[in-house]
Amino acid sequence: MVVPLENPVYVTKPLIPAVSAVTEKITQILESGQLTNNGTQLKKLTETLKEYLEVDHLSLFNNGTLGLLLGLKALDLEGEVITTPFTFPATVQALDWNHLTPVFCDIDPVTLNIDADKIENLITEKTSAILAVHVFGNPCEVEKIEYIARKHHLKVIYDGAHVFGSRIKGRPISSFGDMTMFSFHATKLFNTIEGGALAFRDKELNKKLELLKNFGLLNSEEVVLSGLNAKMNEIQAGFGLEVLKTVEKERKKRHDIKKAYQSGLADIPGIRIITELEGESSSYQYFVIEINEVEFGRSRDWVHLELEKYNVFARKYFYPLCSDFEWYRNLESAQAEHLPSAHKAVKQVLSLPYYGDLGLETVKSICQIFEEMHVNQKTMTQL
Ligand SMILES: *Cc1c(COP(=O)(O)O)cnc(C)c1O
Repeated sequence: MVVPLENPVYVTKPLIPAVSAVTEKITQILESGQLTNNGTQLKKLTETLKEYLEVDHLSLFNNGTLGLLLGLKALDLEGEVITTPFTFPATVQALDWNHLTPVFCDIDPVTLNIDADKIENLITEKTSAILAVHVFGNPCEVEKIEYIARKHHLKVIYDGAHVFGSRIKGRPISSFGDMTMFSFHATKLFNTIEGGALAFRDKELNKKLELLKNFGLLNSEEVVLSGLNAKMNEIQAGFGLEVLKTVEKERKKRHDIKKAYQSGLADIPGIRIITELEGESSSYQYFVIEINEVEFGRSRDWVHLELEKYNVFARKYFYPLCSDFEWYRNLESAQAEHLPSAHKAVKQVLSLPYYGDLGLETVKSICQIFEEMHVNQKTMTQL
C-alpha cells in the first residue's frame, strides 16, 4: 500500500539563487540609480548569455512571448505561417498579434514536434515562414526544416522556450533557423522571474529589435517603428545573472532525477517516456510521459486525478490543442482529421514533477504510485 506524499509536489519549482547574493545584487542596482533601459545588468546578462548559448546576436525581453511577437514583426512576415497545434498558447498568439494566419501541421508521434514530412504539403503562395517548437526539449528535425525553407524561400523561427542550452550533434540549438526564442519564465530551467530572449543570425535585426522593444523610439524626437514596451529591467537581469550560476548544478540534479524516473517506470506497461533522441542533449526542462490507456489500464485523465490523491500535482502539458481554440476552430488546417497524431498526444501526455530539489526518494514514491495504479487495474480485470 503506497501512502500519499507528506507534502504536495508540483510540476516545477523555480530555481532561486542564494538570498544573500540576490540582496547584494538588488542593493547594487538600487544604488546605481538605473532601474531599466539598457543598464549595466542588462548588458552584462546579454554578453554572458551570448557566450553561454554560443550565439552571435541576442536580444533580451521582459518575457519570451513579447520576444517572439516582436521577432516575427522584425522579420516582416505576411500571410500564413506553418506551425504546430501542440504547443503553449503563446506560440500561436504571437502570430495573431502580427495578423499572421497559423496553418496547423500534424506532429511526429515520437518527438511530438511538428512533423517535417507534412510541412511541404501545406505550403501555398501565401506562406512566409515556419514556426516550429522544440517541444519538451526534443529538438525538431532541423535539417529537414532548413531544406524545405530554403527550397521555398521561407523564414524559420523556433520557439525554444524548453531548450535552454541544448545541443544537436554538438551544435548549439539556436544555430538552426533564422531566429530562436528562449523563455526565462520562473518555471523554465533558467529564469529571470519573467523574461526571454531572441537569438538570431542576421546582425541587422539587432537595431530593429532594439527599436521595437522600446516604442520604436530612435531618439527623443523620432518614432520610426510601431513598437511596444518589451524591455527587460535591471532587477530581472541582475537576478538572472545569479540564477545562471546555479544552472549547471540544477542540470546535474535533474539528470539524476530523470534516471531515477526512467528506471522506476521502465517495467510498467503503457508508459512511454518522451526523451531526446541519439545525438541530442537533454534540456532537463520537463519530464513528460505518455499513457496508453489500453496497455496501462487507466486513462491519462484518470491518472491525473488519482495522482492528486497522493499529493502529486502533474500537469496536462499541452492541453488543449491550439487548433481547438475558438478563433481557429474553423480553419481548414485545424480540422481533427488532418491532425491525428496531435489529437492522440493531447489525450495521453502528462508532465510529472521535475526539479532539482524533488529528491530521489520522492521520485521513487511517485514511480510506486504508478505501479499501484497499474496493478489495481489488473486486479480489477481479474475480478
Ligand atoms: C513558457 C513558454 C512560452 C512563453 O514564454 P513566456 O516567457 O512565459 O512569455 C512560449 N512557448 C512555450 C512552448 C513555452 O513553454
